[in-house]
Amino acid sequence: MGSFIPLMRPSINENDIHAVSEVLRSGMLVQGKHVEELERLLCNMLGSKHVAAISNGTQTLFLALKILGIGPGDEVIVPAFSFMATANVVELVGATPVFVDIDIDTFNIDPELIESAITTKTKAIMPVHEFGLSAEIGRIMAIAERHRLFVIEDAACALGATENGRYVGTFGDFGSFSFHPRKAITCGEGGALVTNNPAFHDRVLVLRNHGIETSTAGGMDFSDFGFNFRLTDFQAALFNSQFLRLQQIFDGKNRLADIYLSELSAHGQVKLPVVPSSKNHTWQTFHVLVPETADRNAVITRMREKGIGTNNGGQCMPYMQSFQEKYSLDCQKLFPNALRAYKSGLALPIYEGLTDADIRKVVTTLIGSI
Ligand SMILES: *Cc1c(COP(=O)(O)O)cnc(C)c1O
Repeated sequence: MGSFIPLMRPSINENDIHAVSEVLRSGMLVQGKHVEELERLLCNMLGSKHVAAISNGTQTLFLALKILGIGPGDEVIVPAFSFMATANVVELVGATPVFVDIDIDTFNIDPELIESAITTKTKAIMPVHEFGLSAEIGRIMAIAERHRLFVIEDAACALGATENGRYVGTFGDFGSFSFHPRKAITCGEGGALVTNNPAFHDRVLVLRNHGIETSTAGGMDFSDFGFNFRLTDFQAALFNSQFLRLQQIFDGKNRLADIYLSELSAHGQVKLPVVPSSKNHTWQTFHVLVPETADRNAVITRMREKGIGTNNGGQCMPYMQSFQEKYSLDCQKLFPNALRAYKSGLALPIYEGLTDADIRKVVTTLIGSI
């Protein structure tokens, strides 16, 4: 009996620990030079004009909606399948999320279904680059331009993902990233809001820091009602240290994903994720569908008993209690793919440190647990 293989382990090495301790010893803890360095690193990597570090991914989405003036009476188009934060923030600014079903091969919003969801109240589309794979972002941008809608990319899981070589998060009015331990690299809790619009970026800087007008020389003036969405410098130091091996982390996951793909396709029991040729997959999550006849929750329990951590990858958001109580949408009829992804979806372990043998053990255990 080997040791337990958890679903996720963040990549933390001695250099990371040293980088964080240095900041703690310096006594300068909040939004300083390490946060600035994080912003510079992401700007350079993504080729985006502006990046602002924010305390977590959910708040980046909330802030983007606020800055675009989206609120009561407005509608925002979101995929029906994602992590709940995507739709929660739309509710929290007082707007209405309009759910659109996904493509079952990629788990991303189905661009064919977007236009029929647009009404006179629609203000924005919020595509999610699910599990580290770009949505059909080029097509989504074209739809948004045709209908004069804003685009906020929820790229929480997709740092490093591209469509035709261009990084996600740089297509829309805003791109949002998360650095939670489940994402590519982490600072515990953290996020970044990316934009090419200097006026939007100025608003981000003011609103993340109590409304303080940064351009005021000398004294301090407050030009708006702001929040405290700052990141700490010791968190940024952790990110910056991990950033040095980002490519190594992607390469490692790619190798593990290739083993999953070949081993699992040999068994033919589970539906595998499809990667379109215009995109790379960064494998934030390796997500498969068990057969619809199988009881996915029972599979999770059986795998845990055999020493392997898995869970369901995302939610059919309108199917969750909070949205059912408010909108009572018939998900089986309206969002059959999102409901299937929620009910039959299974996230498998994928992270630095797993061996080829571990992946084979996960595969054998999974097949034996269906
Ligand atoms: C993780 C995630 C978020 C939330 O990010 P946090 O940093 O945990 O707040 C939002 N959207 C998606 C799609 C996510 O996967």
